[in-house]
Amino acid sequence: MTVVKSICVYCGASDDVQKDYIRLAEKLGKALAGRGIRLVYGGGGVGLMGACARSVHGAGGKVLGIMPRFLLTKEMIYEDVEHVIVEDMHTRKQMMFDESDAFIVLPGGIGTLEEAVEILSWARLNLHAKPMAFLDEDGFWAPFFELMDHIIDGRFTPKSFRAMLVHCTTPEDAIDALCDRIVKLDQ
Ligand code: AMP
Repeated sequence: MTVVKSICVYCGASDDVQKDYIRLAEKLGKALAGRGIRLVYGGGGVGLMGACARSVHGAGGKVLGIMPRFLLTKEMIYEDVEHVIVEDMHTRKQMMFDESDAFIVLPGGIGTLEEAVEILSWARLNLHAKPMAFLDEDGFWAPFFELMDHIIDGRFTPKSFRAMLVHCTTPEDAIDALCDRIVKLDQ
């Protein structure tokens, strides 16, 4: 049976956001560590990325950060955890995918959105079946789900695809939803 050993978290790199978003990243980090699930992430020490990684590490959990060389100073690599420095964004993204069993998308900007949507596009092409949960406490991702419904209403993407995506408000629910989906895929 497949178990969720590693979860890749996509999230914002900005520190200039409401503190509740940073706190949610910290809560997620604590929950991952508590469940013995390794965090795979972009390697930065800034924004929600840094908050989540510090929280996992602080709670005794495992972290793998994957950082492209050209972003080392801008995203302030978090050196206290295991990290890999790669040459470009594509290598980073591929490695984050390869090292993970599932994905959680926290509030973030265009980088977060790009990463999440590319993984979803690979799922749409049946290149993988790793599940993804969007996590927010305030409906941050609701407009994304509205857009998905709009696309599905227009019959550009089948309804069945919508079932692959979950929208959760607590880290525990997001982790449980991903574990459930992986177990169902196995059956
Ligand atoms: P943002 O959501 O814009 O704050 O970005 C979050 C993270 O996504 C940052 O670490 C960015 O470096 C990263 N990112 C942005 N674009 C890409 C991309 N094309 N591939 C991989 N990571 C990216």
